[in-house]
Amino acid sequence: MALLVLKFGGTSVADVDRIRNAASHVKREVDAGHACAVVVSAMAGHTNQLVALVEQAWGFKERRKQNGAEVSAQYDGSEYDAVVSSGEQVTSGLLALVLQSLGMRARSWQGWQIPLKTDSAHRAARITGVAVDELKARMLEGEVAVVAGFQGIAPGNRISTLGRGGSDTSAVALAAALSADRCDIYTDVDGVYTTDPRVVPKAHRLDKISYEEMLEMASQGAKVLQTRSVELAMQKGVRVLVRSSFEPADLGGKGTDAAEGLGTLVCHEDEIVEQNVVSGIAYARDEAKVTLLKIADKPGVAAQVFCPLAEANINVDMIVQNVSDDGRHTDLTFTVQSADLDRALEVLRKAKESIGYLDLRGSTDIAKVSAIGVGMRSHAGVAAQMFSALAEKGINIEAISTSEIKISVLIDAAYAELAVRTLHSLFGLDSR
Ligand code: ASP
Ligand code: MG
Repeated sequence: MALLVLKFGGTSVADVDRIRNAASHVKREVDAGHACAVVVSAMAGHTNQLVALVEQAWGFKERRKQNGAEVSAQYDGSEYDAVVSSGEQVTSGLLALVLQSLGMRARSWQGWQIPLKTDSAHRAARITGVAVDELKARMLEGEVAVVAGFQGIAPGNRISTLGRGGSDTSAVALAAALSADRCDIYTDVDGVYTTDPRVVPKAHRLDKISYEEMLEMASQGAKVLQTRSVELAMQKGVRVLVRSSFEPADLGGKGTDAAEGLGTLVCHEDEIVEQNVVSGIAYARDEAKVTLLKIADKPGVAAQVFCPLAEANINVDMIVQNVSDDGRHTDLTFTVQSADLDRALEVLRKAKESIGYLDLRGSTDIAKVSAIGVGMRSHAGVAAQMFSALAEKGINIEAISTSEIKISVLIDAAYAELAVRTLHSLFGLDSR
């Protein structure tokens, strides 16, 4: 017998038929003798509708016209949470009912009932503890625990939510607290791919990927798992299997096992025997480039640029500063999320006096393409290979950033797909 956490995302519980389908996956595991907890998201699109209702109630649009985006967003986070957490309450009850209708013992659990405790950072709360004693005892007696994802209880007994996509994190936290054997994330794709299959038809599903690689892939735009859930899984050593809920539930009487070639197991790198140098190519088009021309080349200028951005809560990703020609002036280029570009430009225009620059430019016609792999730690020359291959295709690199297991380049958006295809085959990832 194993202890399993199964998590179903919004598209996997989008209507009652889909909930029935999810239930048949649960039934397979229960029939195989496993003790199961199930974490559910809200029905696809439901959370967006709830967010829209909150904004309507607050008069968000009118306020934005009057006060700008930042001021208008300042509604009461705990009431936002009270509203948007309700989507998961619905699906947890419905799934428990469907499981009961199939003859299983099942009980729904809201965050406060477990309790899954969080801090008081409403709308993006962090989990501080999960009390699983009662839940676990019942699971071991054969009752399926159906847990509403995304929600918890904050100090002061107020409902909290964990940030968009947060039910992945609920599932991993629950798996850690239960010391579960595995956390199965059921979604609408059958795993994690070497790159986006819509861009590279030769992309293939990875059987296994390390936590660190998955973190890079997730933050690079491969939106399979909430980043925080991967961090938590890595920290607690939870093995996470990403798989599709749309594959047949019937596995000939057997429970699931990653070894059967289903899905992608996110695990510690030691568990991965055959390791490529590069495991995947990620790309993101949602970044924008900001360039400051002719700023003074002296101590303190970078701080004068980035402090006001930090104060405005704008995240900066890649940064390049040119070598100065005359020893007095230089150019500075960096990237921000596209959604933050207008605000970033506004902040920098306001700070023009204190920074002192000749001109300010912003552009969204860029893409970031990254090669990711833990094998890079022990292999030299990956960057050289990558840059040569891009040069051969005539692709100009505007900025570079690296970590121990990742090389990212900033390029003209028009070349994004060519760059992804080129690197995918360069590093031997095209499926044969
Ligand atoms: N329902 C929430 C959302 O849409 C949480 C989740 O699905 O993970 O963000
Ligand atoms: Mg999700």
